[in-house]
Amino acid sequence: MATPPETASARSHLDSNTERLLLVLDGLVPLSLMRLGQPGELARAHAEATAQDGLADVIAEAGDRLTAPGNFRDPEDRRTRGRLLTAMATCLAIGAMQPGGITWAGHHWCTAPHDECPNTLAVMA
Ligand SMILES: [Zn+2]
Repeated sequence: MATPPETASARSHLDSNTERLLLVLDGLVPLSLMRLGQPGELARAHAEATAQDGLADVIAEAGDRLTAPGNFRDPEDRRTRGRLLTAMATCLAIGAMQPGGITWAGHHWCTAPHDECPNTLAVMA
């Protein structure tokens, strides 16, 4: 299910780093969903994401580091940023595939219609 565009006021409570991260994730999560749709990819990605931490821990760590001001200024840090973005998008995509989808920083991703989906409610409003 596609995520409808959000209004500026819907994200006004977020800091600019989180707003930029959500814009990037809006592009990465659908790509991760496409990748996870390939045979064996979901099990591989789930095992990789949970090898050291649970999915929620990966999202929490990546979200915290990616939204912290001043992080990732030198080229070596940028590789780490890319790895964190991929890990976060993969975990959000796995969450989007679950019943009811997943919501992070007020933004919702899901892959099937469900009760009280904020995306559906936004479209109907
Ligand atoms: Zn939904």
